Amino acid sequence: MANKKILVLHTGGTIAMHQDGDGDVETSEENPLIQAIIKIPQNVTLQVENIFNLPSEHIGPKHMLVLYQRLLKANSEGFAGIVVTHGTDTLEETAFFLDSTLDIELPIVLTGAMRSANELGSDGLYNYESAIRVASDEQSSGRGVLVVLNDEIHAARFVTKTHTTNIATFGSPISGVMGILTKRQIIYLYNLPKRHVLPIHNVNRNIPVLKAYAGMDGQLLELLAATNIDGIIIEALGAGNLSREAATGVSYLLSRHIPVVIVSRSFNGVAEPVYDYLGGGVQLERAGAIFATSINGQKARLKLLIGLDNHLIDERLRKYLQTF
Ligand code: ASP
Repeated sequence: MANKKILVLHTGGTIAMHQDGDGDVETSEENPLIQAIIKIPQNVTLQVENIFNLPSEHIGPKHMLVLYQRLLKANSEGFAGIVVTHGTDTLEETAFFLDSTLDIELPIVLTGAMRSANELGSDGLYNYESAIRVASDEQSSGRGVLVVLNDEIHAARFVTKTHTTNIATFGSPISGVMGILTKRQIIYLYNLPKRHVLPIHNVNRNIPVLKAYAGMDGQLLELLAATNIDGIIIEALGAGNLSREAATGVSYLLSRHIPVVIVSRSFNGVAEPVYDYLGGGVQLERAGAIFATSINGQKARLKLLIGLDNHLIDERLRKYLQTF
């Protein structure tokens, strides 16, 4: 059996934390995964790098860019796969960022934990071992970035954190789980449509995400137009609708040439224009808003950032964001 070298990049998160005497979870100076005894496939060796040691709330696009650059380099360093350990709070965003920007076939697997190293029922080591198994399996090549926790494999494009504390927190509401790990096997259940990948150089853009609600007025949107935002994501109602007042605010932003991207605040389903009245998706689109079809607000924000960094405007930006 040929030897397979897996690059492991630790970034922090609960998987690298421990519980103190009061039961509070805190960061560890040394990542407990480093000294842990783990069971990995016989022909696999690890090259471990502690790229960050941060709670994932402290991770933003600048850190994602550092990871992107390290992974681009790793692609020509003879690795068979890559594992990134990460806090679960923003794991889906880092996974999506890398999935949208890295045009590489190597398996790239993100994992994390909901319970820290010394908590009863800690899931860190188990998920770490699972991620190494998936990253060293040939079937995982060319599938884009994968998220592995709790015996499940999810596609970065669709995965989201669904529960505050349950270890079964990650789900893919639109597509369903992409694969499963059993004691002996890794089973993929479907292939995804091809990804649209663009490179990234600069992440210095200001793109807020706003959630719509019943009775939303347009005041905040108009105030935002006077700030230095590069675009805005609105988590709209249902299939992608807003109150009349918010729709007027959207028109105001668009008249100032600020891209407005519509996603749904609903947890499941695809956002698309359906209703033709003031605030309805059809009229929002006619006014110039862009529908980002199948992603949530936090991912749409990264996608807009990537699109703008690639100088996409007007129809090209629309097409990019709409692509599934
Ligand atoms: N707050 C933690 C983090 O994202 C949660 C976790 O890792 O599960 O860093």
